Amino acid sequence: MAIYNPKSLKAEEFINDGEILETIKYAEENKNNFELIDSILEKAKPLKEGNGYRCTGLTHRDAAVLLACDDPQKIEEMYALANDIKQKFYGNRIVMFAPLYLSNYCVNGCVYCPYHLKNKHIARKKLTQEEVKNEVIALQDMGHKRLAIEAGEDPKNNPIEYILECIKTIYSVNHKNGAIRRVNVNIAATTVENYRKLKDAGIGTYILFQETYHKQSYLELHPTGPKHDYDYHTEAMDRAMEGGIDDVGLGVLFGLERYMYEFVGLLMHAEHLEAVHGVGPHTISVPRLKRADDIDPDAFDNGISDEMFKKIIACIRIAVPYTGMIISTRESEKVRGEALHLGISQISGASRTSVGGYTEEERPHDSEQFDVSDQRTLDEVVHWLMKNGHIPSFCTACYREGRTGDRFMSLCKSGQILNCCHPNALMTLSEYLEDYASPETKKTGYEMVAKELENVPLEKVRNIAKQNIEDIKNSNRRDFRF
Ligand code: SAM
Repeated sequence: MAIYNPKSLKAEEFINDGEILETIKYAEENKNNFELIDSILEKAKPLKEGNGYRCTGLTHRDAAVLLACDDPQKIEEMYALANDIKQKFYGNRIVMFAPLYLSNYCVNGCVYCPYHLKNKHIARKKLTQEEVKNEVIALQDMGHKRLAIEAGEDPKNNPIEYILECIKTIYSVNHKNGAIRRVNVNIAATTVENYRKLKDAGIGTYILFQETYHKQSYLELHPTGPKHDYDYHTEAMDRAMEGGIDDVGLGVLFGLERYMYEFVGLLMHAEHLEAVHGVGPHTISVPRLKRADDIDPDAFDNGISDEMFKKIIACIRIAVPYTGMIISTRESEKVRGEALHLGISQISGASRTSVGGYTEEERPHDSEQFDVSDQRTLDEVVHWLMKNGHIPSFCTACYREGRTGDRFMSLCKSGQILNCCHPNALMTLSEYLEDYASPETKKTGYEMVAKELENVPLEKVRNIAKQNIEDIKNSNRRDFRF
Protein backbone atom coordinates (compact mmCIF):
# COMPACT_ATOMS: atom_id res chain seq x y z
CA MET A 1 0.00 0.00 0.00
CA ALA A 2 1.29 3.47 -0.92
CA ILE A 3 2.34 5.71 1.95
CA TYR A 4 1.60 9.43 2.03
CA ASN A 5 4.66 11.48 1.14
CA PRO A 6 4.28 15.04 -0.18
CA LYS A 7 7.90 15.05 -1.36
CA SER A 8 7.51 11.96 -3.50
CA LEU A 9 7.22 12.32 -7.27
CA LYS A 10 4.81 9.39 -7.45
CA ALA A 11 1.15 10.34 -7.80
CA GLU A 12 -0.11 7.67 -5.42
CA GLU A 13 2.23 8.93 -2.69
CA PHE A 14 1.65 12.69 -2.89
CA ILE A 15 -2.07 12.31 -3.69
CA ASN A 16 -2.56 9.51 -1.26
CA ASP A 17 -6.00 7.93 -1.11
CA GLY A 18 -5.50 6.67 2.47
CA GLU A 19 -4.50 10.13 3.69
CA ILE A 20 -7.46 11.74 1.92
CA LEU A 21 -9.90 9.30 3.51
CA GLU A 22 -8.31 9.80 6.94
CA THR A 23 -8.58 13.57 6.46
CA ILE A 24 -12.26 13.35 5.53
CA LYS A 25 -12.90 11.27 8.63
CA TYR A 26 -10.95 13.70 10.82
CA ALA A 27 -12.88 16.66 9.35
CA GLU A 28 -16.22 14.97 9.92
CA GLU A 29 -15.31 14.18 13.54
CA ASN A 30 -14.23 17.76 14.21
CA LYS A 31 -16.76 19.78 12.28
CA ASN A 32 -18.45 20.91 15.49
CA ASN A 33 -15.25 21.28 17.48
CA PHE A 34 -15.45 25.06 17.75
CA GLU A 35 -12.34 25.32 19.86
CA LEU A 36 -10.34 23.66 17.10
CA ILE A 37 -12.10 25.68 14.40
CA ASP A 38 -11.35 28.95 16.20
CA SER A 39 -7.70 27.99 16.53
CA ILE A 40 -7.51 27.12 12.81
CA LEU A 41 -9.09 30.45 11.86
CA GLU A 42 -6.69 32.25 14.19
CA LYS A 43 -3.69 30.47 12.67
CA ALA A 44 -4.80 31.45 9.16
CA LYS A 45 -5.07 35.19 9.85
CA PRO A 46 -2.66 37.55 8.05
CA LEU A 47 0.01 38.92 10.40
CA LYS A 48 1.68 42.27 9.87
CA GLU A 49 5.32 41.88 8.88
CA GLY A 50 7.44 44.83 7.75
CA ASN A 51 5.47 46.71 5.10
CA GLY A 52 3.36 43.73 4.27
CA TYR A 53 1.63 40.73 5.70
CA ARG A 54 2.46 37.12 6.17
CA CYS A 55 0.10 34.20 6.17
CA THR A 56 0.95 30.65 7.03
CA GLY A 57 -1.90 29.06 5.09
CA LEU A 58 -3.37 25.79 6.28
CA THR A 59 -2.62 22.11 5.95
CA HIS A 60 -5.15 20.01 4.06
CA ARG A 61 -6.30 18.58 7.39
CA ASP A 62 -7.04 21.96 8.97
CA ALA A 63 -8.65 23.26 5.81
CA ALA A 64 -10.87 20.16 5.58
CA VAL A 65 -12.19 20.83 9.10
CA LEU A 66 -13.23 24.33 8.01
CA LEU A 67 -14.94 22.99 4.91
CA ALA A 68 -16.82 20.35 6.91
CA CYS A 69 -18.10 22.87 9.44
CA ASP A 70 -21.66 23.98 8.67
CA ASP A 71 -22.22 26.37 11.52
CA PRO A 72 -23.59 29.63 9.95
CA GLN A 73 -21.67 31.87 12.34
CA LYS A 74 -18.36 30.11 11.63
CA ILE A 75 -19.03 30.20 7.90
CA GLU A 76 -19.48 33.96 8.14
CA GLU A 77 -16.12 34.18 9.92
CA MET A 78 -14.52 32.10 7.17
CA TYR A 79 -15.96 34.39 4.50
CA ALA A 80 -14.70 37.49 6.31
CA LEU A 81 -11.24 35.96 6.67
CA ALA A 82 -11.12 34.85 3.02
CA ASN A 83 -12.01 38.37 1.93
CA ASP A 84 -9.44 39.87 4.26
CA ILE A 85 -6.69 37.62 2.89
CA LYS A 86 -7.67 38.48 -0.68
CA GLN A 87 -7.57 42.19 0.09
CA LYS A 88 -4.26 42.01 1.96
CA PHE A 89 -2.39 40.08 -0.76
CA TYR A 90 -4.19 40.98 -3.96
CA GLY A 91 -5.91 44.25 -3.02
CA ASN A 92 -9.09 45.07 -4.91
CA ARG A 93 -7.57 44.18 -8.27
CA ILE A 94 -9.16 41.54 -10.49
CA VAL A 95 -7.10 40.25 -13.39
CA MET A 96 -8.97 39.83 -16.68
CA PHE A 97 -8.50 37.14 -19.31
CA ALA A 98 -10.29 35.23 -22.06
CA PRO A 99 -10.01 31.66 -23.31
CA LEU A 100 -9.12 31.05 -26.95
CA TYR A 101 -10.12 27.66 -28.35
CA LEU A 102 -7.68 26.56 -31.03
CA SER A 103 -8.99 23.10 -31.87
CA ASN A 104 -11.60 20.70 -30.56
CA TYR A 105 -10.16 17.61 -32.22
CA CYS A 106 -9.63 15.14 -29.41
CA VAL A 107 -8.75 11.47 -29.11
CA ASN A 108 -9.79 11.09 -25.48
CA GLY A 109 -12.99 9.62 -24.16
CA CYS A 110 -13.73 11.99 -21.23
CA VAL A 111 -17.36 11.25 -20.44
CA TYR A 112 -18.17 14.80 -19.24
CA CYS A 113 -16.70 16.64 -22.22
CA PRO A 114 -18.47 16.97 -25.59
CA TYR A 115 -15.13 16.91 -27.41
CA HIS A 116 -14.78 13.19 -26.64
CA LEU A 117 -13.85 11.03 -29.59
CA LYS A 118 -17.17 9.22 -29.86
CA ASN A 119 -19.13 12.45 -30.36
CA LYS A 120 -19.62 12.26 -34.09
CA HIS A 121 -22.12 15.06 -34.54
CA ILE A 122 -20.27 17.98 -32.92
CA ALA A 123 -18.55 20.19 -35.49
CA ARG A 124 -14.79 19.58 -35.42
CA LYS A 125 -12.70 22.63 -36.06
CA LYS A 126 -9.07 23.61 -35.95
CA LEU A 127 -8.05 27.20 -36.52
CA THR A 128 -5.65 28.01 -39.35
CA GLN A 129 -3.00 30.63 -38.53
CA GLU A 130 -5.08 33.17 -40.46
CA GLU A 131 -8.08 32.29 -38.29
CA VAL A 132 -5.97 32.51 -35.13
CA LYS A 133 -4.98 35.99 -36.22
CA ASN A 134 -8.60 37.00 -36.78
CA GLU A 135 -9.67 35.63 -33.41
CA VAL A 136 -6.84 37.54 -31.75
CA ILE A 137 -7.84 40.75 -33.52
CA ALA A 138 -11.40 40.27 -32.26
CA LEU A 139 -10.08 39.71 -28.72
CA GLN A 140 -7.74 42.69 -28.91
CA ASP A 141 -10.61 44.85 -30.17
CA MET A 142 -12.52 44.00 -27.02
CA GLY A 143 -9.52 45.03 -24.93
CA HIS A 144 -8.06 41.68 -23.87
CA LYS A 145 -4.34 41.42 -23.17
CA ARG A 146 -4.18 37.97 -21.60
CA LEU A 147 -5.40 34.71 -23.09
CA ALA A 148 -5.68 31.10 -22.04
CA ILE A 149 -5.37 28.87 -25.09
CA GLU A 150 -7.37 25.66 -25.08
CA ALA A 151 -7.17 22.58 -27.25
CA GLY A 152 -8.27 18.98 -27.23
CA GLU A 153 -5.63 16.27 -27.16
CA ASP A 154 -4.87 14.96 -30.60
CA PRO A 155 -1.27 14.23 -31.59
CA LYS A 156 -2.13 14.25 -35.29
CA ASN A 157 -4.31 17.34 -35.48
CA ASN A 158 -2.93 19.38 -32.57
CA PRO A 159 0.72 18.39 -32.15
CA ILE A 160 2.94 20.58 -30.00
CA GLU A 161 4.30 22.23 -33.18
CA TYR A 162 0.78 23.45 -33.97
CA ILE A 163 0.35 24.88 -30.45
CA LEU A 164 3.75 26.60 -30.67
CA GLU A 165 2.91 28.07 -34.06
CA CYS A 166 -0.36 29.44 -32.68
CA ILE A 167 1.44 31.03 -29.72
CA LYS A 168 3.86 32.71 -32.10
CA THR A 169 0.99 34.01 -34.21
CA ILE A 170 -0.87 35.29 -31.14
CA TYR A 171 2.12 37.25 -29.87
CA SER A 172 2.79 38.67 -33.36
CA VAL A 173 -0.60 40.37 -33.81
CA ASN A 174 -0.80 44.06 -32.98
CA HIS A 175 -4.08 45.47 -34.13
CA LYS A 176 -4.42 49.21 -33.49
CA ASN A 177 -3.13 49.63 -29.93
CA GLY A 178 -3.84 45.98 -29.14
CA ALA A 179 -1.44 43.29 -28.00
CA ILE A 180 -1.70 39.93 -26.32
CA ARG A 181 1.02 40.08 -23.72
CA ARG A 182 0.51 36.84 -21.89
CA VAL A 183 -0.57 33.49 -23.31
CA ASN A 184 -1.47 30.92 -20.70
CA VAL A 185 -1.79 27.38 -21.95
CA ASN A 186 -4.40 24.75 -21.09
CA ILE A 187 -3.47 21.66 -23.06
CA ALA A 188 -3.24 18.01 -22.14
CA ALA A 189 -0.44 16.59 -20.01
CA THR A 190 2.73 16.23 -22.04
CA THR A 191 6.47 15.53 -21.86
CA VAL A 192 9.23 17.53 -20.17
CA GLU A 193 10.62 18.26 -23.61
CA ASN A 194 7.32 19.74 -24.79
CA TYR A 195 6.95 21.78 -21.60
CA ARG A 196 10.41 23.18 -22.28
CA LYS A 197 9.25 24.17 -25.77
CA LEU A 198 6.23 25.93 -24.29
CA LYS A 199 8.47 27.73 -21.83
CA ASP A 200 10.76 28.84 -24.67
CA ALA A 201 7.71 30.09 -26.58
CA GLY A 202 7.13 32.57 -23.73
CA ILE A 203 3.99 31.20 -22.16
CA GLY A 204 2.66 32.48 -18.85
CA THR A 205 0.97 29.82 -16.73
CA TYR A 206 0.59 26.19 -17.73
CA ILE A 207 -2.88 25.16 -16.62
CA LEU A 208 -4.07 21.60 -16.32
CA PHE A 209 -7.18 20.56 -14.45
CA GLN A 210 -6.93 17.31 -12.60
CA GLU A 211 -10.67 16.80 -13.24
CA THR A 212 -10.78 14.42 -10.25
CA TYR A 213 -8.16 13.27 -7.78
CA HIS A 214 -10.06 10.06 -7.10
CA LYS A 215 -8.16 7.45 -9.08
CA GLN A 216 -10.94 4.94 -9.62
CA SER A 217 -13.40 7.62 -10.72
CA TYR A 218 -10.71 9.18 -12.89
CA LEU A 219 -10.19 5.90 -14.72
CA GLU A 220 -13.93 5.52 -15.28
CA LEU A 221 -14.43 9.13 -16.36
CA HIS A 222 -11.53 8.85 -18.82
CA PRO A 223 -12.12 5.37 -20.19
CA THR A 224 -10.08 5.72 -23.36
CA GLY A 225 -7.23 7.74 -24.85
CA PRO A 226 -3.92 8.97 -23.40
CA LYS A 227 -5.74 10.91 -20.67
CA HIS A 228 -6.77 7.58 -19.14
CA ASP A 229 -3.31 7.40 -17.52
CA TYR A 230 -3.99 8.85 -14.05
CA ASP A 231 -0.37 8.92 -12.94
CA TYR A 232 0.88 10.62 -16.11
CA HIS A 233 -1.84 13.27 -15.74
CA THR A 234 -1.33 13.79 -12.01
CA GLU A 235 2.45 14.06 -12.31
CA ALA A 236 2.24 16.54 -15.20
CA MET A 237 2.97 19.62 -13.09
CA ASP A 238 6.23 18.11 -11.92
CA ARG A 239 7.26 17.57 -15.53
CA ALA A 240 6.16 21.12 -16.39
CA MET A 241 8.33 22.48 -13.60
CA GLU A 242 11.21 20.28 -14.67
CA GLY A 243 10.78 21.79 -18.13
CA GLY A 244 11.26 25.25 -16.62
CA ILE A 245 7.65 26.42 -16.30
CA ASP A 246 7.40 27.80 -12.80
CA ASP A 247 3.85 29.13 -12.92
CA VAL A 248 1.40 26.25 -12.98
CA GLY A 249 -2.37 26.33 -12.50
CA LEU A 250 -4.35 23.59 -10.78
CA GLY A 251 -8.07 22.88 -10.73
CA VAL A 252 -10.66 20.15 -10.41
CA LEU A 253 -13.93 19.89 -12.27
CA PHE A 254 -16.43 20.08 -9.42
CA GLY A 255 -19.38 17.78 -9.93
CA LEU A 256 -17.48 14.66 -10.97
CA GLU A 257 -16.59 13.35 -7.50
CA ARG A 258 -17.38 14.14 -3.87
CA TYR A 259 -16.28 17.72 -3.29
CA MET A 260 -14.49 16.93 -0.03
CA TYR A 261 -12.28 14.35 -1.71
CA GLU A 262 -11.40 16.85 -4.46
CA PHE A 263 -10.78 19.68 -2.03
CA VAL A 264 -8.33 17.62 0.02
CA GLY A 265 -6.62 16.26 -3.12
CA LEU A 266 -6.24 19.76 -4.52
CA LEU A 267 -4.59 21.06 -1.36
CA MET A 268 -2.33 18.02 -1.17
CA HIS A 269 -1.26 18.72 -4.74
CA ALA A 270 -0.44 22.32 -3.76
CA GLU A 271 1.54 21.08 -0.73
CA HIS A 272 3.42 18.66 -2.96
CA LEU A 273 4.48 21.39 -5.41
CA GLU A 274 5.63 23.55 -2.51
CA ALA A 275 7.52 20.65 -0.91
CA VAL A 276 9.28 19.53 -4.09
CA HIS A 277 9.73 22.73 -6.10
CA GLY A 278 9.68 25.36 -3.34
CA VAL A 279 6.71 27.11 -4.92
CA GLY A 280 3.02 26.32 -4.82
CA PRO A 281 0.55 26.64 -7.69
CA HIS A 282 0.36 30.08 -9.29
CA THR A 283 -3.39 29.69 -9.69
CA ILE A 284 -6.25 27.44 -8.74
CA SER A 285 -9.38 27.32 -10.92
CA VAL A 286 -12.77 26.20 -9.68
CA PRO A 287 -14.73 25.01 -12.73
CA ARG A 288 -18.10 23.34 -12.19
CA LEU A 289 -19.52 20.80 -14.61
CA LYS A 290 -21.86 22.40 -17.16
CA ARG A 291 -24.41 21.34 -19.72
CA ALA A 292 -22.82 20.80 -23.11
CA ASP A 293 -23.56 19.33 -26.54
CA ASP A 294 -24.17 15.70 -25.54
CA ILE A 295 -23.49 16.15 -21.83
CA ASP A 296 -26.18 16.39 -19.16
CA PRO A 297 -24.68 17.52 -15.83
CA ASP A 298 -27.65 15.96 -14.00
CA ALA A 299 -26.37 12.55 -15.08
CA PHE A 300 -23.51 13.06 -12.63
CA ASP A 301 -24.23 12.57 -8.94
CA ASN A 302 -21.85 15.00 -7.32
CA GLY A 303 -23.13 18.42 -8.28
CA ILE A 304 -22.65 21.09 -5.62
CA SER A 305 -24.94 23.90 -4.56
CA ASP A 306 -23.94 27.54 -4.93
CA GLU A 307 -23.62 27.75 -1.14
CA MET A 308 -21.18 24.85 -1.00
CA PHE A 309 -19.30 26.23 -3.99
CA LYS A 310 -18.79 29.52 -2.15
CA LYS A 311 -17.58 27.76 0.96
CA ILE A 312 -15.06 25.78 -1.10
CA ILE A 313 -13.74 28.99 -2.67
CA ALA A 314 -13.37 30.67 0.72
CA CYS A 315 -11.62 27.65 2.24
CA ILE A 316 -9.16 27.40 -0.68
CA ARG A 317 -8.43 31.13 -0.30
CA ILE A 318 -7.69 30.67 3.40
CA ALA A 319 -5.58 27.53 2.88
CA VAL A 320 -3.34 28.88 0.06
CA PRO A 321 -3.24 32.64 0.56
CA TYR A 322 -0.64 33.42 -2.12
CA THR A 323 -2.26 31.50 -4.94
CA GLY A 324 -4.36 33.36 -7.51
CA MET A 325 -7.90 32.04 -7.85
CA ILE A 326 -9.80 31.92 -11.13
CA ILE A 327 -13.53 31.81 -11.84
CA SER A 328 -14.77 31.48 -15.42
CA THR A 329 -17.94 32.40 -17.26
CA ARG A 330 -19.26 28.92 -16.48
CA GLU A 331 -20.69 30.79 -13.50
CA SER A 332 -23.45 33.38 -13.52
CA GLU A 333 -23.04 37.07 -12.80
CA LYS A 334 -24.57 36.50 -9.36
CA VAL A 335 -22.25 33.68 -8.31
CA ARG A 336 -19.23 35.46 -9.74
CA GLY A 337 -20.15 38.63 -7.89
CA GLU A 338 -20.31 36.77 -4.59
CA ALA A 339 -17.15 34.77 -5.25
CA LEU A 340 -15.20 37.98 -5.79
CA HIS A 341 -15.62 38.70 -2.10
CA LEU A 342 -14.36 35.26 -1.10
CA GLY A 343 -10.92 35.25 -2.64
CA ILE A 344 -11.21 35.14 -6.43
CA SER A 345 -8.49 37.24 -8.08
CA GLN A 346 -8.93 36.47 -11.79
CA ILE A 347 -11.99 36.27 -14.03
CA SER A 348 -12.66 35.75 -17.70
CA GLY A 349 -14.94 38.07 -19.62
CA ALA A 350 -16.95 37.80 -22.85
CA SER A 351 -15.70 34.22 -23.30
CA ARG A 352 -16.53 32.01 -26.23
CA THR A 353 -15.91 28.33 -25.67
CA SER A 354 -16.14 27.38 -29.32
CA VAL A 355 -13.42 27.17 -31.94
CA GLY A 356 -13.62 30.39 -33.93
CA GLY A 357 -16.21 31.79 -31.53
CA TYR A 358 -14.92 35.35 -31.44
CA THR A 359 -15.32 35.85 -35.17
CA GLU A 360 -18.61 33.95 -35.54
CA GLU A 361 -21.64 36.18 -35.44
CA GLU A 362 -24.36 34.08 -33.85
CA ARG A 363 -24.68 31.92 -30.76
CA PRO A 364 -24.92 29.06 -30.08
CA HIS A 365 -21.72 27.91 -31.71
CA ASP A 366 -21.70 24.39 -33.02
CA SER A 367 -18.26 23.57 -31.61
CA GLU A 368 -18.91 24.97 -28.12
CA GLN A 369 -17.34 23.07 -25.20
CA PHE A 370 -19.96 24.01 -22.62
CA ASP A 371 -22.72 26.53 -21.94
CA VAL A 372 -21.51 29.90 -20.77
CA SER A 373 -23.65 31.41 -17.98
CA ASP A 374 -22.21 34.89 -17.91
CA GLN A 375 -22.72 36.17 -21.44
CA ARG A 376 -21.99 39.84 -20.84
CA THR A 377 -19.59 41.84 -23.01
CA LEU A 378 -16.16 42.70 -21.65
CA ASP A 379 -17.23 46.34 -21.33
CA GLU A 380 -20.20 45.28 -19.19
CA VAL A 381 -18.03 43.08 -16.98
CA VAL A 382 -15.42 45.82 -16.56
CA HIS A 383 -18.07 48.38 -15.67
CA TRP A 384 -19.77 46.00 -13.24
CA LEU A 385 -16.46 45.23 -11.50
CA MET A 386 -15.72 48.90 -10.96
CA LYS A 387 -19.24 49.65 -9.72
CA ASN A 388 -18.62 46.94 -7.12
CA GLY A 389 -15.30 48.40 -6.01
CA HIS A 390 -12.93 46.07 -7.91
CA ILE A 391 -10.20 47.32 -10.23
CA PRO A 392 -10.20 45.35 -13.49
CA SER A 393 -6.52 44.78 -14.28
CA PHE A 394 -5.14 43.95 -17.71
CA CYS A 395 -1.65 43.76 -16.31
CA THR A 396 0.72 41.08 -17.58
CA ALA A 397 3.95 42.60 -16.29
CA CYS A 398 5.05 39.95 -13.84
CA TYR A 399 6.27 37.18 -16.04
CA ARG A 400 7.69 39.64 -18.57
CA GLU A 401 9.70 41.20 -15.75
CA GLY A 402 10.82 37.77 -14.59
CA ARG A 403 8.54 37.82 -11.56
CA THR A 404 7.39 34.22 -11.77
CA GLY A 405 7.44 31.26 -9.41
CA ASP A 406 8.99 32.07 -6.05
CA ARG A 407 9.92 35.63 -7.16
CA PHE A 408 6.23 36.39 -7.65
CA MET A 409 5.42 34.77 -4.33
CA SER A 410 7.99 36.90 -2.51
CA LEU A 411 6.58 40.06 -4.09
CA CYS A 412 3.18 38.94 -2.91
CA LYS A 413 4.51 38.33 0.59
CA SER A 414 6.54 41.54 0.92
CA GLY A 415 3.74 44.06 0.54
CA GLN A 416 5.57 45.64 -2.42
CA ILE A 417 2.60 44.63 -4.50
CA LEU A 418 0.95 47.98 -3.74
CA ASN A 419 3.84 49.81 -5.36
CA CYS A 420 3.92 47.46 -8.30
CA CYS A 421 0.69 45.62 -9.15
CA HIS A 422 -1.54 48.50 -8.10
CA PRO A 423 -0.04 51.15 -10.41
CA ASN A 424 0.31 48.54 -13.17
CA ALA A 425 -3.39 47.70 -12.84
CA LEU A 426 -4.32 51.38 -13.04
CA MET A 427 -2.13 51.98 -16.09
CA THR A 428 -3.48 48.97 -17.97
CA LEU A 429 -7.02 49.88 -16.98
CA SER A 430 -6.38 53.36 -18.40
CA GLU A 431 -5.22 51.76 -21.67
CA TYR A 432 -8.48 49.84 -21.75
CA LEU A 433 -10.55 52.95 -20.98
CA GLU A 434 -8.81 54.98 -23.66
CA ASP A 435 -8.89 52.35 -26.41
CA TYR A 436 -11.99 50.22 -25.89
CA ALA A 437 -14.42 51.41 -23.20
CA SER A 438 -17.91 52.80 -23.74
CA PRO A 439 -18.35 56.43 -22.61
CA GLU A 440 -20.08 55.34 -19.41
CA THR A 441 -17.39 52.81 -18.49
CA LYS A 442 -14.71 55.35 -19.34
CA LYS A 443 -16.23 57.91 -17.00
CA THR A 444 -16.58 55.45 -14.11
CA GLY A 445 -13.11 54.12 -14.85
CA TYR A 446 -11.22 57.39 -14.74
CA GLU A 447 -12.98 58.32 -11.50
CA MET A 448 -11.73 55.04 -10.06
CA VAL A 449 -8.22 55.51 -11.44
CA ALA A 450 -7.93 58.99 -9.90
CA LYS A 451 -9.10 57.72 -6.52
CA GLU A 452 -7.01 54.55 -6.54
CA LEU A 453 -3.78 56.29 -7.56
CA GLU A 454 -3.76 57.84 -4.10
CA ASN A 455 -3.39 54.33 -2.63
CA VAL A 456 0.06 53.87 -4.15
CA PRO A 457 2.29 54.30 -1.07
CA LEU A 458 5.55 55.47 -2.66
CA GLU A 459 5.24 59.05 -3.85
CA LYS A 460 7.81 58.58 -6.61
CA VAL A 461 5.98 55.56 -8.05
CA ARG A 462 2.65 57.35 -7.73
CA ASN A 463 3.92 60.35 -9.70
CA ILE A 464 5.41 58.22 -12.46
CA ALA A 465 2.12 56.30 -12.75
CA LYS A 466 0.18 59.57 -13.00
CA GLN A 467 2.50 60.82 -15.73
CA ASN A 468 2.22 57.53 -17.63
CA ILE A 469 -1.55 57.65 -17.48
CA GLU A 470 -1.46 61.20 -18.92
CA ASP A 471 0.71 59.81 -21.74
CA ILE A 472 -1.75 57.00 -22.37
CA LYS A 473 -4.56 59.57 -22.65
CA ASN A 474 -2.64 61.87 -24.93
CA SER A 475 -0.70 59.54 -27.20
CA ASN A 476 -0.50 56.03 -28.54
CA ARG A 477 2.30 55.06 -26.18
CA ARG A 478 1.29 51.88 -24.37
CA ASP A 479 2.65 49.15 -22.15
CA PHE A 480 4.07 51.20 -19.29
CA ARG A 481 4.86 48.99 -16.38
CA PHE A 482 6.72 48.68 -13.11
N1 SAM B 1 -7.71 18.99 -23.38
C1 SAM B 1 -7.07 19.56 -22.24
C2 SAM B 1 -6.88 18.50 -21.17
O1 SAM B 1 -7.05 17.34 -21.45
O2 SAM B 1 -6.57 18.87 -20.07
C3 SAM B 1 -7.76 20.72 -21.60
C4 SAM B 1 -8.56 21.65 -22.35
S1 SAM B 1 -10.28 21.58 -21.97
C5 SAM B 1 -10.66 22.55 -23.36
C6 SAM B 1 -10.45 22.56 -20.52
C7 SAM B 1 -11.25 22.03 -19.38
O3 SAM B 1 -12.63 22.13 -19.64
C8 SAM B 1 -11.08 20.58 -19.02
O4 SAM B 1 -9.92 20.37 -18.30
C9 SAM B 1 -12.35 20.30 -18.22
O5 SAM B 1 -12.12 20.42 -16.82
C10 SAM B 1 -13.30 21.39 -18.64
N2 SAM B 1 -14.57 20.82 -19.15
C11 SAM B 1 -14.74 19.79 -19.99
N3 SAM B 1 -16.05 19.53 -20.14
C12 SAM B 1 -16.73 20.39 -19.37
C13 SAM B 1 -18.11 20.59 -19.09
N4 SAM B 1 -19.08 19.86 -19.62
N5 SAM B 1 -18.44 21.58 -18.22
C14 SAM B 1 -17.50 22.36 -17.67
N6 SAM B 1 -16.19 22.22 -17.91
C15 SAM B 1 -15.79 21.24 -18.74
